[in-house]
Amino acid sequence: MKKCIYCGAELSDNFVIDFCHKCGIKVFGEKMFHTIVKNMETARENGDLLHTPKDIFQKSPEIKDFK
Ligand SMILES: [Zn+2]
Repeated sequence: MKKCIYCGAELSDNFVIDFCHKCGIKVFGEKMFHTIVKNMETARENGDLLHTPKDIFQKSPEIKDFK
């Protein structure tokens, strides 16, 4: 079972990102969070292997605040 990297909440295995909705919205803001999810889903559909959230941030120039 995957777990949220921020709060440890359990995530469903087919969830594309490593943190839950609540933390995602808290950390990134709702709009940014949805952009991240969309990008991850698109990447998965395209067969890109993105193992960490950092990978998707590097591929998303509009996302600048990820540490
Ligand atoms: Zn969380």
